[in-house]
Amino acid sequence: MKNVFFLGECMLELRQLTPNSMGQSFAGDVYNSAVYMKRCFDGINVGLITAVGQDALSDKMLATFNEAALDTDWVFRHPDKTVGAYLIETDKSGERSFVYWRSDSAAKQMMSLIDESALTQLSSESTLFFSGIPLAIFSPEARSAFWQTVARLKNKGVSIVFDPNYRSQLWENIETARAETDIALSLSDIVLPGVDDFSALYDIHAATDVIEYCQQQGAGEIIVKNGPNSVLTCVKGYIEAHSIIPAEKVIDTTSAGDAFNGVWLGARLSGHDMSHAVAMGAHAAKTVIQFPGAIAPEDGFADAMREMLADE
Ligand code: ADP
Repeated sequence: MKNVFFLGECMLELRQLTPNSMGQSFAGDVYNSAVYMKRCFDGINVGLITAVGQDALSDKMLATFNEAALDTDWVFRHPDKTVGAYLIETDKSGERSFVYWRSDSAAKQMMSLIDESALTQLSSESTLFFSGIPLAIFSPEARSAFWQTVARLKNKGVSIVFDPNYRSQLWENIETARAETDIALSLSDIVLPGVDDFSALYDIHAATDVIEYCQQQGAGEIIVKNGPNSVLTCVKGYIEAHSIIPAEKVIDTTSAGDAFNGVWLGARLSGHDMSHAVAMGAHAAKTVIQFPGAIAPEDGFADAMREMLADE
């Protein structure tokens, strides 16, 4: 069985339902990708590497991971921290903004909890997926421990997959964000950058320039997402554009890129060729943006994926 481990932070997501009530769910970029991968590719063992606390809210988050059939062997439990949270606020024009409480989360401390001997059990058949978000929230010491772990796993033959997912407010400064992202690009077998992230982080605005930058840093396979515009892929220097069918209605773009990442990677690991994997990832993303929140309802999502595969 193939193993894919997603390393990062999952948070409590709060959204206003009525003036006096809040809806709650759990979300976070790599968690979202893991959920969508598992929904589409049940034959892959999809795990999370993260940390939660020991309180009731953390129990609930862990139960949600288990309900999604994710491998939780490497979900560590911090003795006194708990999970981070964020509130989505939507103004009268529908514009969304976020308020975060994550600066003291258990996940921020995960490198001090990770059991190195367990991690080295990852076989060379395994894949480690991470994004720029854990890099941003880790302390400098945790970052260097993380890079040592990644280098060790890479030497063992574990495939390293990275999405820069740049969130400026999480970093101490843009220079550090660039330096850490450059390291990740240089160590990765596969990178899945979005053009928006590269615009904000490197002032690079064209998908072809994103590819060039990633190549210069030493990245392997490069998959560039660009909203409703074509996905550009680059494998061994061969660049291909894959057109996207724009969604007729967009309710909430949260986790479009995450859904794409999880389903694209699941498809590639299951033997689909690049074009088909992009089509599946793009269809998953297009489906997800037609529902509110990061995690689309299971039935609606499954129906949309089934329809796509039946139409082929
Ligand atoms: P991110 O969420 O990382 O910013 P993007 O906005 O680039 O990523 O979107 C990721 C993927 O979601 C795109 O490559 C595309 O497949 C899909 N997508 C995004 N916006 C749309 C849209 N309006 N219509 C259809 N698909 C979309």
